[in-house]
Amino acid sequence: MIQLRLRTDCDRTLAPFVTRIAEGEPLCVDDATLSLEEANTLSYRSDKADFRLRDVSPEDVAGDVLLIDPRRQIAHRLIRAASLHNTFLITEQCDQLCLMCSQPPKPQHQDMFDHFLAAARLAPPGAQIGLSGGEPLLHKDALFTFIDAVFAARDDLTFHILTNGQHFERGDLAWLRKHRARLLWGVPIYSDDPATHDEIVGKPGAFAKLSLNIALMGLAGAALELRTVVLQQNASGLPGLADFIARHLPFAATWAIMQMERIGYGRMNWGQCFFDSSRDFASLGAAIDLMRARRQDVALYNFPLCTVPPAYRDFAVRSISDWKQKYLPACGACTLRENCAGFFEWYREEDGFMEIRPQ
Ligand code: SF4
Repeated sequence: MIQLRLRTDCDRTLAPFVTRIAEGEPLCVDDATLSLEEANTLSYRSDKADFRLRDVSPEDVAGDVLLIDPRRQIAHRLIRAASLHNTFLITEQCDQLCLMCSQPPKPQHQDMFDHFLAAARLAPPGAQIGLSGGEPLLHKDALFTFIDAVFAARDDLTFHILTNGQHFERGDLAWLRKHRARLLWGVPIYSDDPATHDEIVGKPGAFAKLSLNIALMGLAGAALELRTVVLQQNASGLPGLADFIARHLPFAATWAIMQMERIGYGRMNWGQCFFDSSRDFASLGAAIDLMRARRQDVALYNFPLCTVPPAYRDFAVRSISDWKQKYLPACGACTLRENCAGFFEWYREEDGFMEIRPQ
């Protein structure tokens, strides 16, 4: 697995700071240049501080934007220059308790917006950065201020924001309209049946609020990616949800049907939630057929390609972030591997898909 945290050495009395590993000559005062390369240690020099990184090669970190925490002697790789999967974790707080949550909520919040702003300013040209949680919009004012500041500094960046859609208000319309070309909102909807959706997200009334707010997003012309994790609880209802989306949410840019991650609550509830679509693709197929017939975009995220019937493989996206993706030994000689999403690092064969078939 790709390391998102690196061991570092620097003056412990310093405050945390953001720096970029220069790929050649430094371009600004935030760039750090390599001054010495030893066995498993790289020494860097910058206007802010000198520091060392351990167990990494200069090529691996070239162009990366790091948040260095001197007290803990850790460098967080906020932006990896070579990756398309960079995400800022805005908060670990959330007002929902989803059955399959991969990042279970925590009560405390650590405000990192200043560091994220410094990092975004140093991002590679044209980068799309993910913003996730928890629920990022629990800190809506600070989040909107942060996005305004990033866009004022960089007119080439975009954000993909994951939100449970519970916290928009009519007063947000103007702001949403202003940034609609540069923000893609990933919003989960698990069923067109309010009781099923509310049960999955662990919050009574969530579906009603979500419906109102998705309509608001439509009014704002916001780019909307609907997201549905397929579970035992909602699999049979997917064709009904497809019909609901086609009739009521035709402005959605896409609908992502996703397989679950075996981590966090997803690990705890795997037995009661995981739906083995390699054995039964009927409801997924019917939902996709319906979307296709209505000419609405649909995609499959996190589905190993051989678990998807050939007629639907064009919808499967290599969606698993590089740092948490793996393949099985059986995948070694598979001809589909290049286009296959593979598996999450924490996937287990013994209670996962029963029909993995290298081709
Ligand atoms: S065998 Fe492995 S690489 Fe091939 S399609 Fe299945 S999961 Fe993907």
